[in-house]
Amino acid sequence: MTNNKLHYVCWYMTYYCNLNCEYCYAFKKRKNFDFEKFLSVGNELIEQGIRKVNLTGGEPFASKHLLNVVSEFYHKLDISITTNGTLGTVKHLSFLKDKIERLTISIDAINNDLGKILRSSNCDTNKILDFTKSAILMDFGVLPTTAGSQKQAGMQLRSHTGMM
Ligand code: SF4
Repeated sequence: MTNNKLHYVCWYMTYYCNLNCEYCYAFKKRKNFDFEKFLSVGNELIEQGIRKVNLTGGEPFASKHLLNVVSEFYHKLDISITTNGTLGTVKHLSFLKDKIERLTISIDAINNDLGKILRSSNCDTNKILDFTKSAILMDFGVLPTTAGSQKQAGMQLRSHTGMM
């Protein structure tokens, strides 16, 4: 008999994203849910035996409930966050430290011009790289991803920050 039990889910904090990458499904308009909705979803996941969640979107840092969700569930779930790296701040990182397992950050370019071509005119690559560097310096587990390969993303990050 196969064990089909789910242990890990990607949990969309919002379908909205502040970048408008051509190739993406993310919505340009926000649809807001009450925090109570997030509470009931999180509790339902735990009841169903889920132990790991990846908070994603859209852009999870665009959700006003992201930090409250982490605060509410980090004792009960292993949490990671996937972000485009443009809205998170050092203040967010300080709050998330010791609460989440990993940050996955999309790094598609190491200069602004290329970032705007590959992603959208809203894309601020310097901000993404600064956020990534801060996360590494604060000892977060950071997984860089790219429209290319992870090896490429790692090389881009190393060459820009001299780290990793
Ligand atoms: S950053 Fe990611 S979620 Fe946002 S529009 Fe681009 S591909 Fe979609």
